[in-house]
Amino acid sequence: TDRSKIRNFSIIAHIDHGKSTLADRLIQRTGGLTEREMSQQVLDNMDIERERGITIKSQTVRLEWKGYTLNLMDTPGHVDFAYEVSRSLAACEGALLVVDAAQGVEAQTLANVYQSIEHDHEIIPVINKIDLPAAEPERVKAEIEDIIGLDASNAVLASAKSGIGIEEVLDAVIDRIPAPGGDANAPLKAMLVDSWYDPYLGVMILVRVMEGVLKKGQQVKFMQAGTTHLIDRVGCFRPKLTQLGELGPGEIGFVTAQIKEVAQTMVGDTITDAKKPTATPVPGFKEVQPVVFCGLFPVDANDFEKLRESISKLRLNDASFSFEMETSAALGFGFRCGFLGLLHLEIIQERLTREYDLDLITTAPSVVYRLQLSKAAGEAEAQVIELHNPADMPDPNRIEEIEEPWIKAVIYVPDEHLGAILKLCQDRRGIQKDLTYVGGRAQITYELPLNEVVFDFYDRLKSISRGYASFDYEQIGLRAGDLVKMNILVNNEPVDALAMIVHRSQAEARGRHMCERLKDLIPRHLFKIPIQAAIGGKVIARETIAALRKDVTAKCYGGDITRKRKLLEKQKEGKKRMREYGNVSIPQEAFIAALRMG
Ligand code: GDP
Ligand code: MG
Repeated sequence: TDRSKIRNFSIIAHIDHGKSTLADRLIQRTGGLTEREMSQQVLDNMDIERERGITIKSQTVRLEWKGYTLNLMDTPGHVDFAYEVSRSLAACEGALLVVDAAQGVEAQTLANVYQSIEHDHEIIPVINKIDLPAAEPERVKAEIEDIIGLDASNAVLASAKSGIGIEEVLDAVIDRIPAPGGDANAPLKAMLVDSWYDPYLGVMILVRVMEGVLKKGQQVKFMQAGTTHLIDRVGCFRPKLTQLGELGPGEIGFVTAQIKEVAQTMVGDTITDAKKPTATPVPGFKEVQPVVFCGLFPVDANDFEKLRESISKLRLNDASFSFEMETSAALGFGFRCGFLGLLHLEIIQERLTREYDLDLITTAPSVVYRLQLSKAAGEAEAQVIELHNPADMPDPNRIEEIEEPWIKAVIYVPDEHLGAILKLCQDRRGIQKDLTYVGGRAQITYELPLNEVVFDFYDRLKSISRGYASFDYEQIGLRAGDLVKMNILVNNEPVDALAMIVHRSQAEARGRHMCERLKDLIPRHLFKIPIQAAIGGKVIARETIAALRKDVTAKCYGGDITRKRKLLEKQKEGKKRMREYGNVSIPQEAFIAALRMG
């Protein structure tokens, strides 16, 4: 393809402003889809993605319009996947900024638009939903200019739903977004933007060619991974898969190279010619590392093999999560898994439950701590260990120092919620670094310990601000902290799955909260059950579940027999989903719910 006739762009939008609908319209208008195919949204194609309204994996479609080739790149929409977003944006020269004509500029729009500006994108404002009676395109234009500082005089007015302004959007892409650069005669330099596992074709790799030409039959080298592969397919999605002979500079498409696992591909890697490599890899590569760890155990011990198989299958398609076998005194055999963040954890857990029909217990999520241990007798040197499981915490007397990861968070929030957000950050041991106003919104910069953020920070932020706050973060390294292991004892037995590492200043409040939660979540037994939070031998919080007096069916005596049977069945069902600790049954929900600090 002639480079001057290529346009690469992504779509930026606050959730529900119409990104997916517009993308589908663009595909339909350029002939890629029939009306019937339009009825299903094409770009968000996983169930969980659709339900949560976020895009987890990016997809790209190639459109043809007036002799030009347009590559529309979809980007993930959550901070857990910020690195993937940055790579997708690096593959484009421009972006459509979709703003709801009735809602106006929202916080999420801001975070995304600033990223796009950082990538030097040409940004085309698209004011969507002009069909709504409440649409106020002129007010929204003014907001785009005042708040974001972009010229909105030539914004496209559109209704993705009614099909208004679609051609204007396509024309604006051609007229205003620059063509990609790149020398066809230079050695091959392509960026690995994304990869996923296809059951028929194996690992598929989304690439953006920066320089040179990527051909079928070419021997290529993945520079960061240090591996070589033979390219056996080259193509693009229109949105149906279409094979091509090659991809030239500026083009976006996919390749396959008989790769079996996505773990062999790294987002941001540079693909070059094995014989004639480029001297300069694509900048900005980062190896993604899981930051949140937790244990996943089957409720029914007999499901362990099934869990192993299911996790292995998911891992085929997601190299960013890790797993290794773990045994727990109370929970038996399971896996210690690493994730990019809590949403990522929830997605994997949800898929295991839903797609693989597994009942799981999730242990308290933990970040990775670095421990400096004193010299043990007979050891030549003091030891430094990485801890991602509170259960592995060494004897406190041997710990010289514990370091924990910190992040720098940037939060955008409308004025009226500012006070509540500042309090939330303060409660989470945050250090305020900056506070500025952009339009009617505050931009707050905080340094926060990652372990205060991984639990429920994002959910709290959203609920406090009624969805208006947005949040973006990057890791800024390790800092020493006064951290302790808190055990939870049920009927005087420590439940290792509920052990967590907390800051000493937070221990009591968190311990109390946990005991209160568990008191409500653990059903009554025939005996009294003490629930305690303890640091070492010191109990810091305590609740008691009173004994159950009579058999639960007692109240049905003389009553309707089917009701009694139903109750018994329900009890049996409940049993299946419980874990025995000593002689106490703890329902599966208790493990997850107890961890929400809300
Ligand atoms: P996304 O979260 O940005 O991908 O938003 P969607 O494309 O899923 O759209 C969110 C909701 O807005 C859906 O119910 C759409 O049908 C609706 N919607 C999208 N575009 C328009 C539009 O132009 N007009 C109206 N009235 N509704 C729209
Ligand atoms: Mg969408």
